Amino acid sequence: MADILTIGEIVVEIMAKQIGQTFEETAEFVGPFASGAPAIFIDQVAKIGSSAGIISAIGNEGFGRLNLERLRQDGVDVSYIKVSHDLTTGVAFVTYKENGDRDFIFHLKSSAASLIGPDDVKKEDFERCKFFHIMGSSLFNESIRAAVKKAIELCKKTGTKISFDPNIRKELLQDSEMKEFLGYVLDNCNIFLPGKEELELLVDGEDDEARVQRLLSKGVEYIVVKRGSKGCKAYSKETSFSLEPIKVVEVDPTGAGDCFAGTLISCLNKGYGFRQSTMFANTAGALAVTKKGPMEGNSSLELAKEFVC
Ligand code: ATP
Ligand code: MG
Repeated sequence: MADILTIGEIVVEIMAKQIGQTFEETAEFVGPFASGAPAIFIDQVAKIGSSAGIISAIGNEGFGRLNLERLRQDGVDVSYIKVSHDLTTGVAFVTYKENGDRDFIFHLKSSAASLIGPDDVKKEDFERCKFFHIMGSSLFNESIRAAVKKAIELCKKTGTKISFDPNIRKELLQDSEMKEFLGYVLDNCNIFLPGKEELELLVDGEDDEARVQRLLSKGVEYIVVKRGSKGCKAYSKETSFSLEPIKVVEVDPTGAGDCFAGTLISCLNKGYGFRQSTMFANTAGALAVTKKGPMEGNSSLELAKEFVC
């Protein structure tokens, strides 16, 4: 039984070797790396020291086993992950542009992760669960949305806190069902962890202050706006504060947001206050970008403490 649960895709990531490399030309890639936004999140939750599980699905092959072993080694309870004999583990390819942007090709909708559904969400698993984390990128088909809806209903009964990281691109909002569902998740979350652009896309208001106030008045307890190399801004009913970024050399930005969220939720679960948890998250997010690979920069609380304390 895990204190912190999440749901969604497990994938391997195959990364371009050179900055400026595109998908249109033959070039070298490196991988596979263990990945998938919810997988990076839950790996970090476990590394910080909370009991953690991910409801997911992988294929019965090496890509699946690579992820499974990695999560197991880092302390994640992998018993919520099912193995498909029909579909293969998801794959994401990534290239890096000179300006720091990334380009992705995902093989997800026809992967094992597409098989996640309501039957994978079990009442008994939520009885002890303190935090349930949802990522917008995981809501890519009807069956996963139905699973998340069932989980949200269970959380309401058990008092489990729901955290939500939209992790979306603008184009996804053109899908009206997706947009409506993201609104439903937002209306039900206790902790909201958007990027600045995501806050603007998902919440009405004339500026960020107005958007944040609207959410707080609706009952969201904690909001942290992730700002990449600019640090973060945090809000609750009682307080608001900005954190400067920790100075690091950025090698690969992929996974920073998931590592940030994993640290924050795991620290709250361990009993740290909102400000202290956000400080650890701000540090872990910075450490995450110093390593090549989505999950490779995940780190322990001891390391974060060296920077914060
Ligand atoms: P992704 O979805 O790619 O995982 P994100 O957009 O959700 O990323 P970011 O804002 O990129 O999340 O990063 C999360 C947090 O990590 C930031 O708010 C900041 O605290 C820290 N961080 C990220 N990049 C840097 C950096 N270059 N220097 C210092 N801290 C950083
Ligand atoms: Mg993100």
